[in-house]
Amino acid sequence: RGASVSLIRCIAEPAEKTTYTTSVNRNANIAKLQAGYLFPEIARRRNAHIQRYPDAKVISLGIGDTTEPIPTVITGAMEARARALSTLEGYSGYGAEQGEKPLRAGIGAAFYADLGIDETEIFVSDGAKCDITRLQLVFGPNVTMAAQDPSYPAYVDTSVMMGQTGLFQSDSQQYSKIQYMKCTPENDFFPDLSSTPRTDIIFFCSPNNPTGASASRKQLEELVAFAKKNGSIIVYDSAYAIYTSDDSPKSIYEIPGAKECAIETASFSKYAGFTGVRLGWTVVPKALKFADGHPVHTDFNRVMTTCFNGASNVAQAGGLACVSSEGLKAMHETVKFYKENTKILVETFESLGFKTFGGKNAPYVWVQFPGKSSWDVFSEILEQTHIVTTPGSGFGPGGEGFIRASAFGHRENILEASRRLKEYFGSKK
Ligand code: PLP
Repeated sequence: RGASVSLIRCIAEPAEKTTYTTSVNRNANIAKLQAGYLFPEIARRRNAHIQRYPDAKVISLGIGDTTEPIPTVITGAMEARARALSTLEGYSGYGAEQGEKPLRAGIGAAFYADLGIDETEIFVSDGAKCDITRLQLVFGPNVTMAAQDPSYPAYVDTSVMMGQTGLFQSDSQQYSKIQYMKCTPENDFFPDLSSTPRTDIIFFCSPNNPTGASASRKQLEELVAFAKKNGSIIVYDSAYAIYTSDDSPKSIYEIPGAKECAIETASFSKYAGFTGVRLGWTVVPKALKFADGHPVHTDFNRVMTTCFNGASNVAQAGGLACVSSEGLKAMHETVKFYKENTKILVETFESLGFKTFGGKNAPYVWVQFPGKSSWDVFSEILEQTHIVTTPGSGFGPGGEGFIRASAFGHRENILEASRRLKEYFGSKK
């Protein structure tokens, strides 16, 4: 009996403690953010679904995480580096915050050859998402920004956190002070720049997540001219450039003049399955200057050296293998595999009479459900087929009426998803 009394007290104690608060005010900018970040919210709904249907084999075409093993030419290099750390000769501690010189040079040679990018303009990091946040730290709270709508949620959410925006407006589903550049089938997923107000910063992702659209050379020329006319800085996200199948530029620096107005961020995540390993890079040309003539490069370097201690040395060994000729070949093989998945998904939805976009230059298929709410379609597909997709509206109000299907998956899962979708939507016809 005595034990049970103390047990009860033990349970009650933490509840009493929760009434205590510190006297620290919550960051008002973080308080502006809506609900959860999109992907944790999807994971929450997925978990609730699994609890309700414990026997269902849930297939994820949702979060966009890679699934296929990393090529052994890359893991072998990481293994060797990890083992070397256990030797006196091979041990290394903190490295250069900007990344190891051979890797910076290797990234330059693999992705920016002939584009006039110097290796000292390439900063190696733990991923593009982290670099987007560090770029926001460089820009600070007083800049104005524009982003494609729909787009990868990190641009808008980090802008809110940094204090660049006003409050969320529930009628428009937009944060005030951000310019949402609508990208729809009607404008070929390229914003109408003639009606886009000037902003300091323009986030632009091509090939785009979630629509899969990539901007043509002509469109990027237009974007660079627009930025230059307005004195804006473009943050160009090329996380999916390796998926490009047509002649769309793979880097913003293919456009003359871009070095004076654009930063480019990229990642090994979707190139080599490094979503867990963590390695990316950001290019900040020295020719890019703030209004007072100060190079952006110097400030980004200051943020990197202050807030970041360099990417993992083991991951950088993997990165160096990625940009070797064998590594590049192996990465292209994996990308080819995902692109075949994309083709299966496109064919599946098209055969059911849905209009799809993307899928050619990106591992994402953007499927239109006219007149329907994205979250309703997400729920219907999950409930009826046990398949997790991503609701388009989670990428901005311009994504309403669409869902995104990701081609990252084992082949048998993609084929099974295709079968289930055909069975369910086919029977509804
Ligand atoms: N940029 C875009 C457009 C993405 O879709 C993603 C990941 O999904 C990232 C950046 C994040 O990349 P990383 O894993 O390097 O942080």
